[in-house]
Amino acid sequence: MEFHSFLIKYGEIGIKGKNRFMFEDALVRQIRFVLKDVEGKFLVHKTYGRVYVDCEDGYDYEETVEALKRVFGIVGICPVVRLDDKGFEELKKEVVSYMGEMYPNKDLTFKVEARRSKKTYPMTSMEINAALGEAILGSHAEMKVDVHKPDVRLNVEVREEIYLYSEIIPGPGGMPIGTNGSAMLLLSGGIDSPVAGYMIAKRGVALEATYFHAPPYTSERAKEKVVDLARQVAKYAGPIKLHVVNFTDIQLYIYEKCPHAELTIIMRRYMMKIAEHFATADGCLGMITGESIGQVASQTMQSLAVTNAVCTLPVYRPLIGFDKRDIVDIAEKIETYETSILPFEDCCTIFVAKHPVTRPELARIEESEKNLEKIEELVKTAIETTEVIDVK
Ligand code: ATP
Ligand code: MG
Repeated sequence: MEFHSFLIKYGEIGIKGKNRFMFEDALVRQIRFVLKDVEGKFLVHKTYGRVYVDCEDGYDYEETVEALKRVFGIVGICPVVRLDDKGFEELKKEVVSYMGEMYPNKDLTFKVEARRSKKTYPMTSMEINAALGEAILGSHAEMKVDVHKPDVRLNVEVREEIYLYSEIIPGPGGMPIGTNGSAMLLLSGGIDSPVAGYMIAKRGVALEATYFHAPPYTSERAKEKVVDLARQVAKYAGPIKLHVVNFTDIQLYIYEKCPHAELTIIMRRYMMKIAEHFATADGCLGMITGESIGQVASQTMQSLAVTNAVCTLPVYRPLIGFDKRDIVDIAEKIETYETSILPFEDCCTIFVAKHPVTRPELARIEESEKNLEKIEELVKTAIETTEVIDVK
């Protein structure tokens, strides 16, 4: 079967009134973004309050569907056969052959659901339903009509052209990127943070990201790995502005001045501060991390509280109650896992203490930080020397 268009079905939540236009425009924008790398020419448009993707001959069907499955806000993707209106007798023939080709195993029930956008068409919707139903029954004797719970709903939309569709491929759900502002993801090379970014993006939030590296202790390849992860997340989340912060001097300085057991937690606090600086500058409404309660020493309830205490923006931790296994499942589904497990050094693991504190107290940590007289200067330099990469 050759499909010429896709009808895009989207969720109705939050799209009343003015929001509806914003929602649809964001959806159209993101569909165009994901289709830019797909073979073929596409026209994405809104018509009669619906979103369509028209495809020029020779496009790659599988790739197109795969790309559309990554667009948040889509709940269903309907492949459409578009026909010229050559009169009703011709339409009957086309519909019969559509049903025959789409459903080779013909032991099924169906219902025809016609809609007339073109009011000059010489038959009513009811008449079209009845006549097409009869034509299908006449040619495919095993098929039966069931108007309440049919296996197949054949939609026939009559407009300048005639649109036939009956299949709905499930979309990812969620909300279109950009309908809920933007947030700053702290993106490491690990398994968790790309998944955390994906989950927040699914709610319509555009992403920026910040990555801290420590050259020469961490390699160029470690950085490339993070860029690759950002690129994979961008397939769902749209373009990501990635800030790459050189964290070496700050880490060495903390190492020199603070108790080693507190290294990770103090480092994490400076990461949050710096990421928040970029977040605020770009109007992000929150920050995102891949933390989950108890996963490591820096993610106990006490550690999370101490890290959180430096932030003024809300910090979203969508994986907070997830087990590693559940996170890995999502990482595999969104295809970040293979990259995440590549064995490159991470700045957190290089300066890690043998016995990190697991129950830090905020007052103690703040006391230790008082030894860091030069830190503001180092933070300023880190911010000024940050490299920005536009990941698309
Ligand atoms: P991940 O698998 O995402 O690396 P993790 O289990 O290794 O997480 P931590 O290293 O404690 O956990 O980091 C917790 C969170 O802090 C990460 O999910 C990420 O959001 C942020 N983070 C850690 N290291 C970095 C880094 N080098 N650059 C940016 N963010 C980081
Ligand atoms: Mg990590």
